[in-house]
Amino acid sequence: MRLFLVVKRLLSILITLSVLGVGLILSFTLFVVGQHEFDQQVSQQVTNVHKQVRDRFRVFDELIANDERELHKRARRALLRLSEVLDHENFNPADWDPQRLQALSEEHQVDAIYVVDRTTKVVATNFIPDLGFELGSISDSFNTYINQLYGTGRIEVDRINVSSQTGILQVYAYYAPLNSDYIIEVSYDVKKYLTRSHSSRYVDFMFGDFFTELTKTNPMLEKVDIYLVNNYAAFPFLEDTPAIETEGLPDIPSKGVITVKAKNNILHHYSRANLNRSNLHSAEYLAIRSTFNLSPIYHLMHKFLGISLVVILIVLGIAFFLISFLFDKWIIKRIFRIIAALERSADGDYSDHIVSGRRDELGLIADHINSMNRRISQRDTELKEVRLHLEHRVEERTADLQQQIEARKQAEKKLITLASTDPLTQVLNRRAFNQQATKEIERAHRYNHPLSLILLDIDHFKKVNDSFGHKYGDQVLVDIAQLIHPCLRTPDSLCRHGGEEFIVLLPETDLEQATQLAERLREAIERYHLDAEAKNFTITASFGVSSWERQESDIQPSIHRADEGMYKAKQLGRNRVIVFNHSIKTAGAAEEI
Ligand code: GH3
Ligand code: MG
Ligand code: MG
Repeated sequence: MRLFLVVKRLLSILITLSVLGVGLILSFTLFVVGQHEFDQQVSQQVTNVHKQVRDRFRVFDELIANDERELHKRARRALLRLSEVLDHENFNPADWDPQRLQALSEEHQVDAIYVVDRTTKVVATNFIPDLGFELGSISDSFNTYINQLYGTGRIEVDRINVSSQTGILQVYAYYAPLNSDYIIEVSYDVKKYLTRSHSSRYVDFMFGDFFTELTKTNPMLEKVDIYLVNNYAAFPFLEDTPAIETEGLPDIPSKGVITVKAKNNILHHYSRANLNRSNLHSAEYLAIRSTFNLSPIYHLMHKFLGISLVVILIVLGIAFFLISFLFDKWIIKRIFRIIAALERSADGDYSDHIVSGRRDELGLIADHINSMNRRISQRDTELKEVRLHLEHRVEERTADLQQQIEARKQAEKKLITLASTDPLTQVLNRRAFNQQATKEIERAHRYNHPLSLILLDIDHFKKVNDSFGHKYGDQVLVDIAQLIHPCLRTPDSLCRHGGEEFIVLLPETDLEQATQLAERLREAIERYHLDAEAKNFTITASFGVSSWERQESDIQPSIHRADEGMYKAKQLGRNRVIVFNHSIKTAGAAEEI
């Protein structure tokens, strides 16, 4: 019993741990998979955003083309006029002070005029912040480009660029007079020009919403920035964006996007962009930066994960409860029921019947126990019947045996009686008499008691036979025996000594008492008549009486002496009692009473 409870408890703990483990693993997996999926999504969106910015840059390029062309035309024209001024004035750059240059720029409608010497340094300009600035320091490629221009007599116009000093978007144009160590440069403030030729809303749109409206359709995308990067910094191309120091800018690959993680789940993605129609000379490259804020999504994701975890735990908890409930119902309870049935069987009660609705292994065990109980019960009944039958048989047999024993005892008794009884008169025969006499002699000897005997012989019995027949004689013998018997005491023994002779053994009886008894017997016989037919026929008997003497070890001498007495009685005329005594015998005469 305890084993199952322990197993149940262990299983509960195991299932609880499994539930927690599975819940955690599921949540973790969900989290990892979700995170991965989400990162993939973000990466996809980043690629899309950067592609869209590049695409918009191409459109921007087309949209700005006319204005740029117009600016380029103006720049060329201004430079040509300036070259004429140079030729005419026998140009010496050192003489061109800012006021003069200011006057010239106003005259030729340029925003600024620069004189750049052989070392690419601005040696004269009406835009004071740029005075002394070395153009070659902007970028290596621009340094090469500008150095190749000296003394060629060419006019070159660059694409929209940025002032490394002020960060203002400009269009720069260069004139390198033939065989000269100077370059004359003019610049136009692009936004100022565009505001004038279009409108400030147009400028705001072109350098703002046109690129940044992507943030409106993408909730994670917080900001889109475009930079013109050179040796000095990454200068903003769009409105309201601070410049980035060169050190703060990552190493952006020529293809693909690089991700930089900032604090609070902010991600910056950088990629490069190129203008369609020509390369930038004075900028190294164009950089696109997108800023993704993942906090709201992460917050949502964590919320979702939390809810998922709670739901999983609830579902698993219900599953655990169900498993525990079903385990209890389908296994534990049924095992206890089987154990109870087995215990009852062990106590000898086979009447139990397990009701098992399920056809599984436990159901099979229950069925086997049921059929086992049924069979044992049947056997029990059979055994009881057999035992009852056997007991009955034994009783019968015992009764038979007892009957047989009784019959045998009776037979033995009969045999003993037969062996010791005279068949005709039913008194002791001679053998039995001798045995009885031996016992009585022993007793008389031990207690010093007298022992006497009477011998009697029916007178002229031959005549009875002859007169009335042998059968009649037999009856007389039987009657005489029965006549004597009532006159005797219990310890006295009557014996048919042979023919018509009887002998009576009288323990604890002396000679005188024996003689008296003999006389009574003689009188009784004398009175006896068999039937009316022989009414006148008198039966008499002659008696000899003697006593046992202590020196005698058996009865024979006593019988012999009684016989002598009886013989004497015959001689003296029969129907009398003669006591034998030694004196008489010695004198040769018996005493007649
Ligand atoms: P006594 O007076 O001298 O004794 O004469 P008795 O005739 O009696 O003596 P005896 O010895 O001459 O005869 C005995 C007879 O007793 C002979 C025999 O036929 C008879 N007898 C002996 N046994 C039986 C018996 O069992 N039945 C019958 N009916 N007669 C018997
Ligand atoms: Mg005789
Ligand atoms: Mg006789």
